[in-house]
Amino acid sequence: MDLYEYQAKHLFGKHGVPVTPGEVCTTGDAAHEATRKFGSPVVVKAQVKTGGRGKAGGVKLADSPDDALAKATAILGMDIKGHTVYKVLVTPAADIAEEYYVSFLLDRANRAFLAMASVEGGVEIEEVAATNPEALAKVRVDALEGCTPEKAREIVAAARFPEAIADQVADVLVRLWDVLVKEDATLVEVNPLVLTPTGEVLALDGKVTLDGNADFRHASHADFTDRENTDAIELRAKEFDLNYVKLHGEVGIIGNGAGLVMSTLDVVAYAGEEFGGIKPANFLDIGGGASAEVMANGLDIVLNDPEVKSCFVNVFGGITACDAVANGVLQALDMLEAKGVKLTKPIVARIDGNNAVEGRRILTEANHPLVELVETMDDAARCVAQLAAGK
Ligand code: GDP
Ligand code: MN
Repeated sequence: MDLYEYQAKHLFGKHGVPVTPGEVCTTGDAAHEATRKFGSPVVVKAQVKTGGRGKAGGVKLADSPDDALAKATAILGMDIKGHTVYKVLVTPAADIAEEYYVSFLLDRANRAFLAMASVEGGVEIEEVAATNPEALAKVRVDALEGCTPEKAREIVAAARFPEAIADQVADVLVRLWDVLVKEDATLVEVNPLVLTPTGEVLALDGKVTLDGNADFRHASHADFTDRENTDAIELRAKEFDLNYVKLHGEVGIIGNGAGLVMSTLDVVAYAGEEFGGIKPANFLDIGGGASAEVMANGLDIVLNDPEVKSCFVNVFGGITACDAVANGVLQALDMLEAKGVKLTKPIVARIDGNNAVEGRRILTEANHPLVELVETMDDAARCVAQLAAGK
C-alpha cells in the first residue's frame, strides 16, 4: 500500500526523521485556521498518491491565513494525473538552501536493499538518472546487516554530500532505514531532503510503500486505509481477507489460484464479445484450500455487486478435491440464504482436477436452481456471458 505524504511523514516523525509539523485539511477554512496556528508563510500541498504535484500546481506557498484559504480552495477538488484531491497538508514553509534526494527500496533481483542518494534532489529522480547518472549514487544494503552508521557514511560519501552536513545526513539515513524495517516498508523516499540556510536537514516530502503481507504485525496501519479512494466492495472484501479486485463488467468471477483467475478473466472477456461486450466484474482468488465459508464469503461479495448479472465459479481441484469444492458451493449457498441474502443471479460452475467426476455428480444431483454445471472453461465462459447478457 502506498501512503500519502502526510502519512509517510507521520511514520518519519515516529522514527526520528526530521519533518516539519503539519495539519491535514479538507476545507479552505481549516487551512486558514491551521495557518493562523503555525504562522505564515505555509505551504499548502495536495495529498494525492502520485509524484510531480508541484509541477501540476498542487503545491503552493501561502503568505497569510486568507491566502492559505484561497490556495487550499483552489487545490481541493483538483485533478492531478487522474487523482482527485480530497485533502491538503498545511505545513510551515521551510527556507531552502539545497534540495537532495535519498531513498531505500527493496531490490528483489539482488536479494538485497538498495540505497539511492543524490545532491541533485527536488527534481524527478528518473530525470537525474537519465540525464546525469553519475549524480545518483546507488549503494547495496545487505538485508541482515541493514543501514549501520558506517553504511550510512558510505552512502553519504558515494553521493558526495558536503562534509559539513555528512553526519546529519547519515543520521537521517539510519533513521529512515528504521522506518523501512520497523514499519515493514518496501520503499521509503525523501525528495526533497533539504538543507535550510541555518544548517538544518529536513524531509520536506515523503513517499512510503508498506508491505501488505506484514499488515498482521501493524494494527495501526489499518488507519492508513484510503476510504475515499477505495472501492466499497473492495473494502468489504478486505474485511473478509479475500484477494479481490473490483473491475467493471457484468460477470462475477470466483476461482482458485491467481493464474487460473487471470485466465478466467480473459476467456470471459473473449466470450463476452459475442454478446455485446460483456466483461468480467472482478478478480477473486479464493486460494487453494478454500473452505465452504470462504466460498460463501466470496459469493456474498460477488453476488452483492450491483454490476454483476451472472457469476462464474471456476475451480481446479487440487489439495482441496472437487467433491469438497462442490459441497462447499452448495453449503455456501445455504449459508447465504440462512443469513437472509436473496439469491437470484445465475451461477455457472466449472470444476475440474482432483476428483472432478465426484464433484460434478454432487452438483448435478443437488440440481440447485441457480447453479448450472458446464464441463469446459470455454463453454462455461460462453454460458455465463450469455446469461449476463440476458439472452
Ligand atoms: P512533489 O512535486 O509531488 O514531489 O511535491 P514536493 O513536496 O516535493 O514539493 C515540490 C517542490 O515544492 C519542492 O521540491 C520544493 O522546491 C517546493 N517546496 C515544498 N515544500 C516547500 C517549503 O516548505 N518551502 C519552500 N520554499 N519550497 C517548498
Ligand atoms: Mn517531492
